[in-house]
Amino acid sequence: MQCNLRHFINISTKGNACFQNHRAILSILQGRNYSTTHEADLVVIGSGPGGYVASIKAAQLGMNTVCIEKNDTLGGTCLNVGCIPSKALLNNSHYYHMAHSGDLAARGIHVENVRLDLEALMGQKVNAVKSLTGGIAQLFKKNKVTHIQGHGTITGPNTVVAKKADGSEEIVNTKNIMIATGSEVTPFPGIEVDEEVIVSSTGALKLSKVPDRMGLIGAGVIGLELGSVWCRLGSEVTAIEFLGTIGGAGIDGEVSKTFQKILVKQHIQFKLNTKVLGAQRNGDKVNVQVESVKDGKKEDLEFDVLLVSVGRRPYTEGLGLESVGIVKDDKGRIPVNGMFQTVVPSIHAIGDCIHGPMLAHKAEDEGVICVEGMLGGHPHIDYNCVPSVVYTHPEVAWVGKNEEELKKEGVEYNVGKFPFMANSRAKTNNETDGFVKVLADKQTDRVLGTHIIGPAAGELINEAALAMEYGASAEDVARVCHAHPTCAEALREANLAATCGKPINF
Ligand SMILES: Cc1cc2nc3c(=O)[nH]c(=O)nc-3n(C[C@H](O)[C@H](O)[C@H](O)COP(=O)(O)OP(=O)(O)OC[C@H]3O[C@@H](n4cnc5c(N)ncnc54)[C@H](O)[C@@H]3O)c2cc1C
Repeated sequence: MQCNLRHFINISTKGNACFQNHRAILSILQGRNYSTTHEADLVVIGSGPGGYVASIKAAQLGMNTVCIEKNDTLGGTCLNVGCIPSKALLNNSHYYHMAHSGDLAARGIHVENVRLDLEALMGQKVNAVKSLTGGIAQLFKKNKVTHIQGHGTITGPNTVVAKKADGSEEIVNTKNIMIATGSEVTPFPGIEVDEEVIVSSTGALKLSKVPDRMGLIGAGVIGLELGSVWCRLGSEVTAIEFLGTIGGAGIDGEVSKTFQKILVKQHIQFKLNTKVLGAQRNGDKVNVQVESVKDGKKEDLEFDVLLVSVGRRPYTEGLGLESVGIVKDDKGRIPVNGMFQTVVPSIHAIGDCIHGPMLAHKAEDEGVICVEGMLGGHPHIDYNCVPSVVYTHPEVAWVGKNEEELKKEGVEYNVGKFPFMANSRAKTNNETDGFVKVLADKQTDRVLGTHIIGPAAGELINEAALAMEYGASAEDVARVCHAHPTCAEALREANLAATCGKPINF
């Protein structure tokens, strides 16, 4: 037990502490459940990027903090079955593809007998996950966050009960509660995921062999990332998408079109404007029925693996929301005010289970400012400055408004574009696909959005987010000295193009 908590054994019939200990032991021997009670300033339910970061921040600010996590490992979706394992596979499948596709040979590096050891590739992913989830446990110890492994249920405005695997319970009386229970895969009505042949993103992260043909339902971020992994490793990948564009919500239309062209060159096939009617497992194959949204033409497709990636939905199972009068909105999210408080002021919620983009860094930021708000701060997050990244090759990243949104809002803007073809570092590295596009207010020159498809887009976008957070103009960014040769010079040139219409190198 952590030293920052008052702790005592508590069973249903109250007795003095000494007897309580004996009775708890007796209860265990008799196979009865017993409970332990803690006192805390904050109980965080869930240890994903939202919950674990909030727990550490709260402890650093002097709050007695308990984090309850139902899973065996800390880190939530992001570390266990999301951001981290997918990026490990994306990185290593890219190396394999470079060696296998002749990319390395074109650079004068000849590698003979390139072969895939899928088990080892998965092993590296597992190691990355292990080291990072283990790292959170260390950080909890270092910051004196009490970790309780169990399912957390809210039983009152200031009480959470954690039910553990052995049936015992830990009761935490607390000043504040933070719900950070995240999200789960959205099921596709009528299609049963078995995580073998019909898989969710979780199953697609651990296939034991490379499928000959893989189908994706949904050409959003997760589908395209995991589709890219398996395509590079040798699958023939077909993405089926109801919409006419790829890349999900927020992506700029022009970027989306370029992205699709590049992925087609990488041999991913697209069936856009296509509705999935159903899918059934048939032995070790899966049959999928689709229909064109445009002309109603039906088609039957067969795959070895079908990835259902139609999005995620908030997860609040067994949380006890109803017992405290918290009613979810029509999308299953927990409504909160600007301080991240629910209708019960002592109960807060952050991350994937509330409004806003389902992104790890958004959850983290909310966790931190929510805690600061509990201690008298004034939380504020500008969702317009939260960047999005697709970690394909090349990467796609954006922050702020896209052209379609600005047109819809009737905002007048200048466009500054700069192709990586004209960037010295991209040319040097033979990574010239893509461009940077900056949208700046016509009157004020303030940066309204930045959209990048190209090398290191996921890193470059953070500079654009910083500029937007500080209300920079395109000229401000263009006047900042950028190191040469770097891909970031393309961002500078696009800002120059937005502010005066004339980049230097194009
Ligand atoms: C394949 C994939 C790739 C992704 N890639 C990226 C990416 O590259 N970048 C990015 O920003 N985002 C990415 N995401 C999204 C990202 O993972 C989520 O936005 C992020 O994890 C949300 O954080 P969270 O803290 O809100 O919730 P989660 O990470 O979902 O964590 C919630 C935690 O709460 C626990 N929990 C739930 N209920 C209870 C309970 N009652 N008691 C105790 N514990 C409970 C859960 O077990 C879980 O550990 C990806 C997601 C997937 C699936």
